[in-house]
Amino acid sequence: KGSCCVTIELKNIVKKFGAFAALDNVDLKVANGELLALLGPSGSGKTTLLRIIAGLDWPDAGEVSFDGQDALSRGAGERHVGFVFQHYALFRHMTVFENVAFGLRVQPRAVRKDEASIRARVKELLDLVQLDWLSDRYPNQLSGGQRQRIALARALAIEPRILLLDEPFGALDAKVRKELRQWLRSLHSEINVTSIFVTHDQEEALEVANRVVVMDKGRIEQIGTPSEVYDDPATAFVHGFIGE
Ligand code: ADP
Repeated sequence: KGSCCVTIELKNIVKKFGAFAALDNVDLKVANGELLALLGPSGSGKTTLLRIIAGLDWPDAGEVSFDGQDALSRGAGERHVGFVFQHYALFRHMTVFENVAFGLRVQPRAVRKDEASIRARVKELLDLVQLDWLSDRYPNQLSGGQRQRIALARALAIEPRILLLDEPFGALDAKVRKELRQWLRSLHSEINVTSIFVTHDQEEALEVANRVVVMDKGRIEQIGTPSEVYDDPATAFVHGFIGE
């Protein structure tokens, strides 16, 4: 099924804001097709790390590569990265259909699809997130969970090989959040993409991801499978954000 996802490698990433190091020598390798959780308290550097991978921000030092190729020399539009924000960031004046089509319509002319192909692709994406029936609605007519599924469909429109989700369920109530976790997990197994999702919710990280990275104060404190992190939560506990 087409070309698959990419391996992401970060080496010695440093990102400073003034004298303050938001990222302090971060090394991380994310395997092809992985669904990785970045867990840590507020201010630990999670969003900054995602923004650097996406090309929305640049590190002061260090290397970022995708499949062994330097990514820092490429702009955000050339990295094939889909980004899902905490507050959906849907366009309010556009229908669900147009929100999902947006990324396809703004692609460079050379790769842009014709209208019929765009319609077919949007339909496919809306089917994937099981919301085709909401195609003509506007974002303010949707529930929070539906909006976030649409935001995900929009991020997937350009067939990204990397998907970054920044606290995707943070704005939702507990019940919807629980449903969407399972949904994200099964959706991820159906698509060819390497994903990192940010959360400060330990339970969420352990439930959704196949590997968990625990961050604190701009550093990686712990990396492991959910059971490894769960069985040895000492590090996380020391830094006091279990059950936050
Ligand atoms: P997290 O996503 O884990 O909550 P962030 O990556 O958003 O953490 O932020 C890490 C640290 O860097 C925080 O202390 C934050 O205040 C700081 N920071 C992030 N972006 C900026 C910025 N543009 N200017 C100044 N400080 C920033």
